[in-house]
This record gives sequence, structure tokens and C-alpha cells, in this order.
Amino acid sequence: ALKDYHKSIYSFYNREAERKFAKERELAFRMKRAAENEEFVVYYQPKVDLPRKRCIGFEALVRWKMMEGQMIPPDEFIPLFEKNGFIAELDLYVFERVCRLIKSWKDSGRTPYPIAVNISRIHLTKPDFLEELEQIAGKYGVESRYLELEITENAFLNNPGEILEVARRIKERGFVLSMDDFGTGYSSLSLLKDLPVDIIKLDKEFFQKRLSDREKIIIANVIHLAHELDIQVISEGIETAEHEAFLTEIGCNLAQGYRYGRPAPIGEFTDLMAD
Ligand code: C2E
Ligand code: MG
Ligand code: MG
Ligand code: MG
Repeated sequence: ALKDYHKSIYSFYNREAERKFAKERELAFRMKRAAENEEFVVYYQPKVDLPRKRCIGFEALVRWKMMEGQMIPPDEFIPLFEKNGFIAELDLYVFERVCRLIKSWKDSGRTPYPIAVNISRIHLTKPDFLEELEQIAGKYGVESRYLELEITENAFLNNPGEILEVARRIKERGFVLSMDDFGTGYSSLSLLKDLPVDIIKLDKEFFQKRLSDREKIIIANVIHLAHELDIQVISEGIETAEHEAFLTEIGCNLAQGYRYGRPAPIGEFTDLMAD
């Protein structure tokens, strides 16, 4: 019986693995055509200044809207694209869309909001990726100060020296640099010592559960430390009034989360942008 049990467990995992593999193969097969067909759409999520109750910018988040109407979230294709290298192309596509949007604001005489783009760690070690970003921004006449690059904290783990160099080059060119998903990796604090980041984004995981008193003390002090180092802190994944009250209590003035707006096409935020 035990043997049968193992066998069925085995075939269960096998079937799961096969299904996952088939799904990946299908997505990989469709991705290039999907790009041509404009199936990748960019959604935007507002970032807010809590004390001033104002939108201060947006984060661009990609979705795959298949021809059949099916909407695929990034967690289902980004890891795959990081494996097969397509992510570099996708990141540039999103970046270009963002530049185009900022240009349209400028053309209509408005002050643009800064927009953040997620840049995969796969991208960072490509020698000419910054030149490519600069070239795209230049094509739309968008100044780099309106463009924020979000790099996830764990990108810094593998090769801190190399990434540090990339970070310096990003700053040299005037882009805003932020460290995404901060606090989930191991080396968060030691990274702060050397990294020339402008903003850290506290990982949404912190706010998915009830914080213990010790966690609250740690977070409050990380925020304080960052501010002392002239680094801004934005908390991600803020959903409730309780979270917001906590942020106010510990002096975190920037937030992003469903409480202020879910990622959506930019047209849905015209009210927000009016005042
Ligand atoms: P991220 O950059 O950390 O983005 C934040 C994620 O949290 C987004 O998920 C957002 O929709 C979600 N979120 C925002 N507010 C809340 C909230 O209040 N509650 C909860 N539960 N979630 C919230 P999304 O859009 O599914 O993106 C997932 C990840 O995929 C992103 O995490 C980012 O790492 C990656 N990603 C998205 N677009 C791109 C892209 O264009 N290029 C690259 N390289 N990665 C991308
Ligand atoms: Mg991000
Ligand atoms: Mg992330
Ligand atoms: Mg994040």
C-alpha cells in the first residue's frame, strides 16, 4: 500500500510538472507574437503622499491580455521570461510605453508624474542596457528624473559588487533608483551602507499579516535609519486604515496599495490626477 501511495504521489507530481511544463512551453511559444499583437498591456498603480493626501507618481505593472480575453498576471510569465531571456525585451517595451505616456502629458502642457518601471535582475548585467534606456527616453524627449527604476532587493545578493556598479551608473544618468521588496532578503541593512538608492520599497509581505511588536520596532527603526541616510521609504501593499495609521505613527509618509488604487489602465486615474 505504501508503494502504491508513493506511486500515486509520484504520478501526481509528475502530472503537475507536466502541466506546468506544457503551460510554459505554450507561453514561450506565444510570447513573440504576443508582443507584435500588443497583448502586453501596461497598468499603473498610484503612489501617494499620506500627509498631503496626494498622488505623487505611479508604478508600471505589466499584464498579458491574451487575444482570447484571458488576463495573465506577471507572476505567471516573468519567471519564465527571466529563464528564456525574453524579459529584457519586455522591460524595454514597458519602459517605452511609459516614456510615451510621459511625453503625452508634456505635450498637453501638464507636469508629468514620475513613473517607476520594474527592471529584472537579468537585465542589469547586460552591458548596454542603460544606453538602451537612455536612447528610448531620448527618443520621447523624457528627462531621466521622471523615470524611476525599481530593482528587487534580491538582485543585489548574487553579485553585490557588480550590481553596486550598475546602481552608480543608473544614478549618474539621473534616473531615480529604488530597491523593491525591501526587507525580505538577508542583506538589506548592509546594502544600505553602500548603495546609492533614492527610495526603498518596504515589501508588501510585512502588511499581509498582523505585525508583532518586535517587527513594528524593527520597521520603525529601518524607516528612521533610511530617512537619516536621505533615502525615502514607501510601503507597498497597504490595504487597510489600520496599516495606514501604523505608517503615520512611525513616520512613513509614502504608500502604495489597494487602499489608494489597484493597478489599472492610466485612463482610470484622471480624477486622481485632476487635483
Ligand atoms: P512588485 O514590483 O513588487 O509590484 C507590487 C505587486 O503588488 C504588484 O503585483 C501589485 O499589483 C501588487 N499590489 C499592489 N498593492 C497591493 C495590495 O494592496 N495588496 C496586495 N495583495 N497586492 C498589491 P503584480 O502587478 O501582480 O506584479 C507582480 C510582480 O511582477 C511585481 O512585483 C514585479 O516584480 C513583477 N513585474 C510586474 N511588471 C513587471 C515588468 O514590467 N517588468 C519586470 N521585470 N517585472 C515586472
Ligand atoms: Mg515594483
Ligand atoms: Mg518585485
Ligand atoms: Mg515589491
